[in-house]
Amino acid sequence: MIFIIFNELIKLLCISEHLLKSIKYLWYPDLNMENLIDKIVALEKVSKELEPSIEVRNSYNEEVQNFTNNFIATTEEKKSYYGGTPDSEKLGVKPGKKDLKELLSIYTSEVVEKGINPASGGHLGYIPGGGIYTSALGDMLASVTNEYAGMYFGSPGAVTMENELLNWMKEVFGFPKESVGNLTSGGSIANLIALTAARDKHQIKNEKITKSVIYLSPQIHHCIHKAIRIIGLEDIQVRLLELDDLSRIDAGKLALSIEKDKTKGLNPFMVIASAGTTDTGAVDPLKQIGEIAQTNDLWYHVDGAYGGFFILSESVKHLFSGIEMADSLVIDPHKGLFLPYGLGAVLVKDKEAVFHSHHYTANYMQDATTNAQINPADVSPELTKHYRGLRLWVPLHLHGLEPFVACLDEKLLLTTYFRSQLLEVGFELGPEPDLTVSYFWYPSREIDENKYNEKLMEIIHKDGRVFLSSTKIDGKFVIRMAILSFRTKKATIDKAMVMIEKCVIQTNEYFNIDK
Ligand SMILES: *Cc1c(COP(=O)(O)O)cnc(C)c1O
Repeated sequence: MIFIIFNELIKLLCISEHLLKSIKYLWYPDLNMENLIDKIVALEKVSKELEPSIEVRNSYNEEVQNFTNNFIATTEEKKSYYGGTPDSEKLGVKPGKKDLKELLSIYTSEVVEKGINPASGGHLGYIPGGGIYTSALGDMLASVTNEYAGMYFGSPGAVTMENELLNWMKEVFGFPKESVGNLTSGGSIANLIALTAARDKHQIKNEKITKSVIYLSPQIHHCIHKAIRIIGLEDIQVRLLELDDLSRIDAGKLALSIEKDKTKGLNPFMVIASAGTTDTGAVDPLKQIGEIAQTNDLWYHVDGAYGGFFILSESVKHLFSGIEMADSLVIDPHKGLFLPYGLGAVLVKDKEAVFHSHHYTANYMQDATTNAQINPADVSPELTKHYRGLRLWVPLHLHGLEPFVACLDEKLLLTTYFRSQLLEVGFELGPEPDLTVSYFWYPSREIDENKYNEKLMEIIHKDGRVFLSSTKIDGKFVIRMAILSFRTKKATIDKAMVMIEKCVIQTNEYFNIDK
């Protein structure tokens, strides 16, 4: 078959001797009709290495399968935090080949056993990610079939699947079906898409930039500040709002702030709330903020990258009331649905606002225009992209929604359990959290509290059995726990307590405190 195609090609080339001459000149100076085919056949022998035989594939699959089985079987016994510096020599690209065994060995020592183990249930720092296995099956299928999920014309099935996943999210969050959405690489790009739509809807450009105001919490995720700069709004006015005792936006103060800006002749333009802040997991009063946004004709954006999917949990659902009022919403399945890194999502009600920046046509895409479905490429800066939908579609259908919801409920209860255990051994706790991020500190009477807890954090990191991170709340150094890994279980919290108690003893020893 391939040979017939080659022969046809050659015939075509011979039609124009001139063409062949110019090709000769460009590629191989010594090319002639006799050696052309010999050369192609010789190259094919080398290039076919890129299509391994079924035997080779089976053997690769087996090695990777053994690796992943061993990784999953041992990950909870191993450290959650290794620290360390990888050997760039070993990771470097060098001429020649290595076999898969050697690659897996380098991967283990230089990648898996360095830094944080984000797949570990003991990862209780930052916002933990997931890594459910069935999502990897979706990635495998997506990579092998290489479906083109950028445009409906190329893969109507892939695009319809992604749009159906977004339709499901619209239902979950009470967004109208006519909203548009996109499956992004993560929350940062999702926020960028939402903020761009807000800018374009309100036409914040030229001299309007410096007169316009964005209202947000000082606890907002830093990717929002990045997005503001990336979309050319660096010179816009940003009002950092006052928070209440639970680190939530004080809606009354927001209304006052908008009034004040209006009387100054400014253009209040957008308010951004969080459905779960990174520092303390606080859910802003979404409904009150939504009403204020509506009254004042502001674009209302909600960042639910960490907390959004907790709406699925009956016990905290009420906190999300009003999220449906948002003009745009960001959620991260690679956080709240326990997927491996690489899947965020954005929903935007106003399609035209999104299309203003992202919808494009080009001559070479003339075959690809169809209105049957929204093209992902029209809602995102990306054209060609990883076919991300499958990594969510496969697990959602294989498991059904129930275990996801149970996992979210479990995380909420584990947070309560962890806090009660900490209280019992003498820690002081931050306020009752809305979701699963919380903080605590050891009340040292002998040593400056910040100094004591900084040292304790250092010793906890050195231990590494369970990984916690720290933050500053009103200048106070506190240790932070974020429970969101699907592998975090009651046993993980018990292990964390054993580790923490031992680390307190070591910290006391370090400061020569007798207890
Ligand atoms: C994680 C997070 C982000 C950023 O999302 P990425 O997926 O890391 O790009 C934005 N906002 C909040 C609240 C987050 O927790």
